[in-house]
Amino acid sequence: MALLSTIDFPPLIIETQGYAHRRIDLHSHTNYSDGGLSPQSLIDRAHNYQIDVLAITDHDTVAAIDIADNYIEEKNIPLTLIHGIEISTAWEGFEIHIVGLNIDKNNEVLTNLILSQQAARELRACTMGEKLEKCGFPGIYDDAKALAGTGSITRAHFAKVLYQQGHVSNMQQAFDKYIGKKGSKGQRAYVKPNWCSIEVAINAIHEAGGTAVMAHPIRYDLSAKWLRRLIVDFNEAKGDGLEVVLPQMNPEQRKKMLSYCLDYDLYASMGSDFHYPNKWSDLGRNLTMPVGAKPIWALWS
Ligand code: AMP
Ligand code: MN
Ligand code: MN
Ligand code: MN
Repeated sequence: MALLSTIDFPPLIIETQGYAHRRIDLHSHTNYSDGGLSPQSLIDRAHNYQIDVLAITDHDTVAAIDIADNYIEEKNIPLTLIHGIEISTAWEGFEIHIVGLNIDKNNEVLTNLILSQQAARELRACTMGEKLEKCGFPGIYDDAKALAGTGSITRAHFAKVLYQQGHVSNMQQAFDKYIGKKGSKGQRAYVKPNWCSIEVAINAIHEAGGTAVMAHPIRYDLSAKWLRRLIVDFNEAKGDGLEVVLPQMNPEQRKKMLSYCLDYDLYASMGSDFHYPNKWSDLGRNLTMPVGAKPIWALWS
């Protein structure tokens, strides 16, 4: 792969726990969940972008991590891979994502949670397939399952299949028309998932020696009052930090996120939530820890 431009990335200057001057991205996906790149291609991309510290945080799976670690070792790539996961949870009828960072991926409590989350994913996928069949699209479950392969099956796989078969004009429309949840009941083929609670996810992450971060707090479509309630509950469940920096956040949102961290004494994390190359976001782009935040990596001495 050609060396990609690094022009968008100002150097990070963060003086904590050996992470000084390092380019850091703590949220990314591979094709072991709904990312577009293999673990090896993701590592190559991160290396080409001169990222020093990358977390792989696939949805409810850690299957990509050994492959990425082996590749880094084999090619002698100067990159620190943080072992991570993004766990889907249910809170007050909303789907909230909790990122676990620096986990022991073989921990028994975490492994058992992954198994039950995978079972919930499979069950939801089957029901979603049945509902889509009633919408006039037979065989979508089989195609989504084939696309997911051995990885976590997600709604993104269904959206991609619906798009590829010409039933919607883009993936977002698949969520808006069929599988998304706007309003109390969701769209025609929406299926309420049976995710674990925030508390169970945080506990499993802690059992695995990791730190628990609330992923992308701005993306839950919550009013300010509800978002604060969520953060209070997350804090009471012993969550460690908030993802205060995502590439798409505007300065106002960044300031707001930082204020939540300060109000509740939470650490701050940052990541691109990279899924596949597109023009809006990329690995490591536009990620700078705000002044005054306690970086989550300060916990990793
Ligand atoms: P799941 O974890 O199975 O609910 O799948 C959700 C994934 O679909 C998210 O992690 C996103 O990567 C992707 N996605 C894309 N557009 C949307 C949307 N409008 N709403 C929810 N998820 C979306
Ligand atoms: Mn995703
Ligand atoms: Mn997420
Ligand atoms: Mn994610």
